[in-house]
Amino acid sequence: MAENQGNAAARKRPVHYQLVNAYDELVQNAVRDVMAKTEMCQCEKCFLDICAIVFNQGYTHFVNTREGQLLKKIPSMNLGNQVEMMVQVMHALKLVKNFPHHDADDAVDAAEAGGC
Ligand SMILES: [Zn+2]
Repeated sequence: MAENQGNAAARKRPVHYQLVNAYDELVQNAVRDVMAKTEMCQCEKCFLDICAIVFNQGYTHFVNTREGQLLKKIPSMNLGNQVEMMVQVMHALKLVKNFPHHDADDAVDAAEAGGC
């Protein structure tokens, strides 16, 4: 019996699953877009801070998918929802622009690297 189980395991390749936020790309693209057009710190920390705020406003829709596989179903957004999301993005951007969550040292580092 133990041998049978061993054979079965050898035949099957292990499948890995991962949890993905289906809104991830929609939100990140919107944030990158608006951020690039705004006169503010463009560093990765500020970008991720804005994304975190938007996600925490409820822009999450987690799905379980096979690792490496593209999402089969990306949630569709109607125009009203898109406008609403942009409002959240603008709000988060304003917050991070006025109160960046990094030290001045980080900003200097990022400036040297072509960021802030
Ligand atoms: Zn920054």
